[in-house]
Amino acid sequence: MGVALVTGGSRGIGKATSLLLAQHGYKVVVNYFRNKQAAEEVVNKIVANGGEALALRADIADELQVMAMFAEIDNAFGPLTALVNNAGILFQQSTIENLTADRINRVLATNVTGYFLCCREAVKRMAYRHGGEGGAIVNVSSAAARLGSAGEYVDYAASKGAVDTLTTGLAVEVAAQGIRVNGVRPGFIYTEMHASGGEAGRVDRVKTALPMQRGGQPEEIAEAIFWLLSEKASYVTGTFIDAAGGK
Ligand code: NAP
Repeated sequence: MGVALVTGGSRGIGKATSLLLAQHGYKVVVNYFRNKQAAEEVVNKIVANGGEALALRADIADELQVMAMFAEIDNAFGPLTALVNNAGILFQQSTIENLTADRINRVLATNVTGYFLCCREAVKRMAYRHGGEGGAIVNVSSAAARLGSAGEYVDYAASKGAVDTLTTGLAVEVAAQGIRVNGVRPGFIYTEMHASGGEAGRVDRVKTALPMQRGGQPEEIAEAIFWLLSEKASYVTGTFIDAAGGK
């Protein structure tokens, strides 16, 4: 089926995506940053179900760590065919008056520079002009890119706006190189990410304001990612799936 890297594949949406891709026959690289045990649990689950997977630690904001991770993937599994840029961060809910340059830069370094670096390394391996056989990239953005996250984390929302622009630009740049690049914009999904913003119960607070009246599950996002990576989406590039319950 191919070799897939899921950044932040150890928890939340990335975990659900890693498990789904493995179920469909991908060899999966489960990238993580801090929580080795969570990544190893995902790998063990995949292997127990007869799949192949590898946990690799790398801070996607660090260029050398990203390059080392891709080199390890080359050695372990051969050329990458699918990249899911998923690892993302946000910090304590705050208005813009209270944002510091350090915080803004940390958000952008992971959510934007990290995505660029992984795209760069993937394109080097997938593009026909580099001797590759093509591939597919899905960038996990957020409905926040459209909505702005006022009073919570406009820095995070802006980082996702940049991710969408990356998706649009890269899709055109590599369309003739056998690589499709698409985005998924989740809405309010039950993961541990909301605790980083200081409100673990955020999805339940906002759910009645959503058209569907409920939050989403990571598995529902994984399905959209899986479809965009698959051959079923062979004529789809440079576009976005909003998976946000109608918001
Ligand atoms: P999550 O549960 O907080 O998990 C984050 C994952 O990213 C973890 O595996 C974490 O690994 C990894 N990670 C964090 N910083 C990293 C770094 N610098 N380098 C490598 N890995 C790193 O997040 P989630 O809710 O599943 O979100 C996944 C993606 O969906 C993000 O891009 C997020 O912006 C987007 N999204 C989420 C929601 C939502 O409601 N949850 C809505 C819209 C969009 P460690 O645990 O090892 O640090």
